[in-house]
Amino acid sequence: MGTLDLAAIVADVGREMQSHRGEGHVADYIPALARVDARRFGLAVVTCGGETFETGDAWVPFSIQSISKVFTLTLALERLGEDLWARVGREPSGSRFNSIVQLEAEHGVPRNPFINAGAIVTTDALMAGRGRDEVIAEIRDTLRRLADNDTIDLDKEVAESEAATGFRNYALANFMRGFDNLRSPVEEVLQTYFHQCAMRITCRQLARAGLFLANGGVDPISGERVVSAEHARRICAIMMTCGHYDASGDFAFKVGLPGKSGVGGGILTIAPGKAAIAVWSPGLNEVGNSQVGTLALERLVAKTGWSVF
Ligand code: GLU
Repeated sequence: MGTLDLAAIVADVGREMQSHRGEGHVADYIPALARVDARRFGLAVVTCGGETFETGDAWVPFSIQSISKVFTLTLALERLGEDLWARVGREPSGSRFNSIVQLEAEHGVPRNPFINAGAIVTTDALMAGRGRDEVIAEIRDTLRRLADNDTIDLDKEVAESEAATGFRNYALANFMRGFDNLRSPVEEVLQTYFHQCAMRITCRQLARAGLFLANGGVDPISGERVVSAEHARRICAIMMTCGHYDASGDFAFKVGLPGKSGVGGGILTIAPGKAAIAVWSPGLNEVGNSQVGTLALERLVAKTGWSVF
């Protein structure tokens, strides 16, 4: 990695975050997520050269939540190709992640695959008439294969907790079904969506799983082509423009890399040609992105010069 001393940089960022641990507010709208210790902080960098650098709680599994949308988009794009874009757009929404307001004006076609409505449609597209068990297993097995780790699994309690309280997601799904933009039964699609969001993963596994996006769609360690170079570029573009809900512009401003956050406090970030970075700190800012995680990425990018700008 040139002259960068990544081991020292990652260790420095970890040290700098010590005094920030616990900042932000843990998501509590999914009851099973509210119990997570807010002081957790983990960071892992996996380079295209196959080296891993980590600090803090990089080995502690957390709830992947919306970061799973990167992997379902990857699978759906490979399965459907350009047809996917008839059902979901690719513009930033400028609204909350679970907003319904734009859906009516846009005839049930969500703005992008990373807001909840768009992710629900993407999951439905991936299902293409298949049952939930098969698709949940496909998503889990994809994560296992990409992370090279067979222990990755989902947390049933989180999935059930979300199903019991996911009234807004039920509303979004039914609304889109009313516009004929959901093909499988609402309950099947939402159960699949809740289970994909409930996967548990560590920073190290997540960075490893996302590494193909830093390397034009080919996993540089296994040599597997996961997606075409064109799809990898497009997924990164959507991460850059839509990956942080209605604060995607702010993340581009502060960090300048494609990234996807989740309400579990994780963020997967891609430094094209260089590395995949995963950070986790459960306390969220007012928009729902990891507060300390974002700060850590800001510091990491300042020290490495990895911003794409
Ligand atoms: N499963 C969460 C929901 O649908 C995901 C939200 C997120 O991480 O943005 O509410």
